[in-house]
Amino acid sequence: VKLLEDRIREDGLVLPGNVLKVNQFLNHQIDPDLMYKLGQEFVSLFEGEKITKILTIEASGIAPAMMTGLILHVPVLFARKQKSVTMNDGLFTAEVYSYTKKVKNTVSVDQKFLSSDDKVLIIDDFLANGQAVQGLIEICKEAQAELVGVGIAIEKSFQDGAALIEKQGIKLESLARISSFDDNKVHFVGDETN
Ligand code: 5GP
Repeated sequence: VKLLEDRIREDGLVLPGNVLKVNQFLNHQIDPDLMYKLGQEFVSLFEGEKITKILTIEASGIAPAMMTGLILHVPVLFARKQKSVTMNDGLFTAEVYSYTKKVKNTVSVDQKFLSSDDKVLIIDDFLANGQAVQGLIEICKEAQAELVGVGIAIEKSFQDGAALIEKQGIKLESLARISSFDDNKVHFVGDETN
């Protein structure tokens, strides 16, 4: 999606450790118009699927997930990283190692919000080694919900996440695919400048 690639070129900052900082529009300040357009893309890429729920993980997945849910008129469920006193009922849980924070979190979803009746689209902001998405896939399995696919805003295609998801036969759609951060610049898959 050119719009997202252009915005990454304009505002993205390459940090050590293969981390892209996009705090102008996604990870701190959020551009709702851009998020809405990403939502429209996800909806068209998964057209024809009778999605009943969007599943994401807090915090930065919520913005693109929310817009997708808004367009489809379905609820947006985000897995929580910390146990909350308001969540004392049955939980679906998964262990997720955070790429950016280097800590392991148990992420959880209240069992009452996900069931075998659901057809789920997982959305997240970034795909690196796939741990976050894998946690969400595990949660769908626990709930016996049907997984329609995974939609990612920014995939770092040189890391392992995409292969991890696709080898499970799960449909993956990423709106921007980064091939490298060579010379501290963002290069996209298919760029002539690669
Ligand atoms: P994974 O679990 O696929 O290794 O990493 C995905 C998660 O880590 C995303 O939910 C995102 O929050 C964070 N993440 C991974 N890589 C980056 C990155 O380059 N930039 C930012 N801002 N977040 C990232």
